[in-house]
Amino acid sequence: MPELPEVETTRRGVEPHVVGRRIVELALHEPRLRWRVPGTLPAKLAGQRIRLAGRRAKYLLIELEGGTLLLHLGMSGSLRVLPATTPRIAHDHFDLVLDSGQSLRFNDPRRFGSLHYTTEALEKHPLLKRLAPEPFDDAFDGDYLYKVTRKRNVAIKQLLMNSMLVVGVGNIYASEALFRARIRPRRPARTLSRAEAGKLVRAIRTVLSLAIRTGGTTLRDYVGADGNPGYFRQKLFVYERAGKPCRRCRTPIRQITQGQRSTYYCPQCQR
Ligand SMILES: [Zn+2]
Repeated sequence: MPELPEVETTRRGVEPHVVGRRIVELALHEPRLRWRVPGTLPAKLAGQRIRLAGRRAKYLLIELEGGTLLLHLGMSGSLRVLPATTPRIAHDHFDLVLDSGQSLRFNDPRRFGSLHYTTEALEKHPLLKRLAPEPFDDAFDGDYLYKVTRKRNVAIKQLLMNSMLVVGVGNIYASEALFRARIRPRRPARTLSRAEAGKLVRAIRTVLSLAIRTGGTTLRDYVGADGNPGYFRQKLFVYERAGKPCRRCRTPIRQITQGQRSTYYCPQCQR
């Protein structure tokens, strides 16, 4: 599933190809995505110029002159920038054809992705208005994390993955950040000290930044070519390393299940 770093890398990859371009047409081949794309949408977009390519949580925000497109990659979605005349392949659901002769093409085998268009203020949009801070926002700092965990008995790893607290920390990055902050994933959130909350915020930013940086090189090959961005190969300390020696202390890494997701940690380094 594309996580925040993959979405941010996609944003950076498509940005130079779309900003400043005019939309010639939205060619809708399959409107039945997670939510049905209205048949009236192509007429609203035709002729509009693209101002910005932004992101909020895992939504790509393509700002036009008269509104904003909200695009979610779902479980299996990907975007390619290619010549508009390129023949479609299976699961290519729409093309945003640009005046450059290129097309922003959306492919999604499982169709959990979505496309919305709004002319309202973004912070009031039902999909965005309840989202927690971004991991790189100034609002997400040690004081914030300390404060919002005080009355929470739930395990810190599960709380991180709950996007009511911070957006975009998926399963891989939650395990990796907790390792870097030396915090056991099963600790009740309220037991974190102020210092640990600060360390955890820094660790989350580090693992996400590394993933975005690694992804940048992957995406340069992918935009305009055929490929799939796939998962980014940052050096993982614990994720999917059950039984292997900790890279810091050689103790075998443990695997547990929390909320039906696998969690990995070092019983020696993490307290
Ligand atoms: Zn260790």
